[in-house]
Amino acid sequence: MIPARKSTTPIPHARAHFYGLLARHTRPRPLTSVSSWSDKYRVLTSKGSGEPGSWRTDRTPYLREILDQLSANNATQRIVLMFAAQLGKTEVGLNWIGYVMQHAPAPMLVVLPTLEVRKRWVRQRLDPLLQETPIIRSLFDSRAKRDAGNAEDLKDFPGGMLVIGGANSPASLASMPIRYVLCDEVDRFPWEVGQEGDPLGLIDERTKTFPRRKVLLVSTPTVKGASRIETEYDKSDAREYHVPCPHCGEYQVLRWRHDDGRYGLTHNDATGAVYYHCKECGERIEEHHKPDMLARGRWIARHPGRDVRGYHLSGLYSPIGLGFTWRELWQKWQEAHGDTANLKRFINTTLGESWEEQGDNIEDLALLARLEEYPEKPPMRLITAGVDVQKDRLEMTIDGWAAGEECWTLDHVILPGDTARPEVWEDLAEAMTDAGVQYAGIDSGFNTSMVYAYCEKRRWCVAMKGVTGMGRPLIEDEKKRRQRLRTRRKKGAPVEPIGVDQGKVLLYARLKLLQPGPGYVHFPSDAAFDDEYFAQLAAEKLVTKIKGTRPFQEWVQTRPRNETLDCKVYSLAAMRLAGKDLAAPQAIQTQSRPQLPRRVGGLSRR
Ligand SMILES: [Zn+2]
Repeated sequence: MIPARKSTTPIPHARAHFYGLLARHTRPRPLTSVSSWSDKYRVLTSKGSGEPGSWRTDRTPYLREILDQLSANNATQRIVLMFAAQLGKTEVGLNWIGYVMQHAPAPMLVVLPTLEVRKRWVRQRLDPLLQETPIIRSLFDSRAKRDAGNAEDLKDFPGGMLVIGGANSPASLASMPIRYVLCDEVDRFPWEVGQEGDPLGLIDERTKTFPRRKVLLVSTPTVKGASRIETEYDKSDAREYHVPCPHCGEYQVLRWRHDDGRYGLTHNDATGAVYYHCKECGERIEEHHKPDMLARGRWIARHPGRDVRGYHLSGLYSPIGLGFTWRELWQKWQEAHGDTANLKRFINTTLGESWEEQGDNIEDLALLARLEEYPEKPPMRLITAGVDVQKDRLEMTIDGWAAGEECWTLDHVILPGDTARPEVWEDLAEAMTDAGVQYAGIDSGFNTSMVYAYCEKRRWCVAMKGVTGMGRPLIEDEKKRRQRLRTRRKKGAPVEPIGVDQGKVLLYARLKLLQPGPGYVHFPSDAAFDDEYFAQLAAEKLVTKIKGTRPFQEWVQTRPRNETLDCKVYSLAAMRLAGKDLAAPQAIQTQSRPQLPRRVGGLSRR
């Protein structure tokens, strides 16, 4: 039934109404909730939904609480939905729009990632709502044709207006005050638009004049640390949907992996059946148990009391017939392995979780487990050293290099002594001789003059200076380096700039290789390679951070000492600087000193 509210309520032109500051004189009426409104009026069309017909909140019971947070008389101002795909999160926004238009009119803004996405969203989502839900259609029947305001970016309705913007276009984000905002797919929003900065900040500004405003942020997450929806969810009360086990009744969150590392879903190879293991009783939960479990489920906050409501839901909760079955999820998981892009998509859209970049950290214990007895003569062509200078000691890693930059780690030595005095440097010279080091890189960040003095006497030793920034290559490209050497030579000792961030990326990637061969790093069963050595080697982690509004990657230390890692990176750089193409067969010159770039005035010790 369609109530004849237009004929009984005097409505001025919506826009005039707007600037005249708002719906005060709209006839007061009892407010219903968004879920009740949806159950009563919302119609899903075959154009916008796989299940055309009347909306039933019972079909997706987990949406009821969320819908009702959007009701006009509810005090919550910010709601965050971090959802996997195909769980009905788009319908939440559409139900809310219908409710606002027909039942609780106010100025509303919908923001899509870009103007192009806006076009598609209006055609595929909004237009079906406006045309196929009778009570909404009735709002526009008489007005649409004569109202110029009914455009792609603007829908006037009695008592309010719907503005539709793209986060990449500040001009489209409306300059008037807005009470209700829906931001869809916020993880695809740009981090900055023009001179205006972060579009989310811009949008928040628009709502400030309304004490009873609401902002709904919706998205599947993307990359950990650079995901807007995850950042917002982490600030929220972080709700998860707990459902009861049909066997033991224990309420639990359905997880892809339990905390102890076991997978929630299990596949029976013999029968092909896929089922979920209750984390409490271990019994099999079957797909057909799901409707009842969902109906009895409840949202529980991990951080009760916070103002922002956050909801996370994975694809494991998909109602039967709406999204993927557990069996399909299992198949997708199997298929996704071995392909990073597929796996990322699976984690983001199917599980609704953020993706942690791989190759960013290593397991020290896994490295400790692969110490090996070296052959009598490992097939090395070059021996390098990387030296780290501390106040009270020098630390040096010695590496042997084979074809394909396969690395035989030979030793790690610690030489105690005041590095401002010459004695410890004499020890270093002796240690290098003993190990047969052919090329070495020494960190010049500390006691620089001593490092220079040492290298000055040894043309095969170079002072190195670590420079940070993911854009800096491990060693300079040849042309740039030649230019620099030409100008610097006159001024004294050249220092090699080492792109340590790239060095760590390369080293960590290689430490993850499991098969000896090109790039593989060997470690000998030797006292020098103990827990502490590997703990330092694994001391850093690549994380994605946000500076201002831009995401960037940075290595962070997870423990105070990391000298063995620095030594290894300098040794790697020394190998590259030695200028030998170790992959080329003609370069095989086992144990002979390679042809090295010489510095003018450098004196060979030997
Ligand atoms: Zn159970």
